[in-house]
Amino acid sequence: MTENANHPWYDRPNATINAEGDLEIRASAARSCRRALWYTVTGVKITDPPTRQDRARMESGKMMEPVLIELMREEGWNIRHNSQLQPETCRIKMMPGVYVTGTWDAFGRAPEGQKPATDSVIEVKVRGNAQYNNWSIRGAALATPDAVSQGAIYVWQMDPTGDLVIATMNRETMEWDTEQIANARLKAAMYDTVAWLAPLHERLKASGPEAKLPPGRDFTMKNYQCQNCPFQTECYASEKKEAEPQGTRHTVNIEDATQALLDYEDAAVAIDEQTEKKAASMAVIAAWYESTEQGKMKLQGHKKARTISRVSYPSYQVSDKAVRELLTDEQKEEFVTEKEISYVRVS
Ligand code: SF4
Repeated sequence: MTENANHPWYDRPNATINAEGDLEIRASAARSCRRALWYTVTGVKITDPPTRQDRARMESGKMMEPVLIELMREEGWNIRHNSQLQPETCRIKMMPGVYVTGTWDAFGRAPEGQKPATDSVIEVKVRGNAQYNNWSIRGAALATPDAVSQGAIYVWQMDPTGDLVIATMNRETMEWDTEQIANARLKAAMYDTVAWLAPLHERLKASGPEAKLPPGRDFTMKNYQCQNCPFQTECYASEKKEAEPQGTRHTVNIEDATQALLDYEDAAVAIDEQTEKKAASMAVIAAWYESTEQGKMKLQGHKKARTISRVSYPSYQVSDKAVRELLTDEQKEEFVTEKEISYVRVS
């Protein structure tokens, strides 16, 4: 039992050594960072526990799972939802001494005329905007390979020849969609997962000095795994000390930053007020314009006469789902380019 075992968020660690000395890993973490799994198994203290907001987000994700299942049913999916109180679980031996356990979300088939036509394991995910868009465009194999590995484990136990459906909901817009992952891709994911876990298992079994060192990082701070990692500070601690010698970075003091925040808040309130005023004015102008039933109209502004008219044009959208299904993973790698967006946020 480690210190982390008592952490309120850590009642179900991603990896443990069981009474028989076997490594037990949660299916949802089977393709997650091996350094983080090593920290977990060896009892390294959590340095970045999730905030109250993070925990609320996680809980809301669980609560939205039945909502998404219900929405799918309304669209004609025939689904059996695994019980959230007494769920049926899976436990698979990945290799001697390594087991993966987890709880599948649902099992079912698409409405008539859609795929999958036969009952399949359904993995339900609730994502934020950025992750939802990433998945929507690139598909799960590239955007969230951990979700494919997790689903593959359930398929392996429940129906080894079946496909997987990943149903994903955007927690901010409530938009949702599904992606079917073919059985051949799931087999490849199982082999990948075994190859992924083998070196970690070897390191945990080893007794030499190297076994006392964490494995290398599997991800960078661009990845959501690092951004949500409870060991982030521990993992990057030595690097930060080297990269940020005291006194070389912070050229703005906290008083100046606090004053800037107050100015920022005042500006944000003023912008909100002006935005509301602009929208209300526009609604009056539009109501007047519609009542005239004429083409272009003129109204005198402060400095010049403004033209008021209706603008209409067609809007075209590409179906992310169609693109996702048409392109192979290799083609997606070629066509979908990634651009890193990074900024300081005040929330
Ligand atoms: S911060 Fe990233 S690389 Fe480091 S342990 Fe966590 S997930 Fe792994």
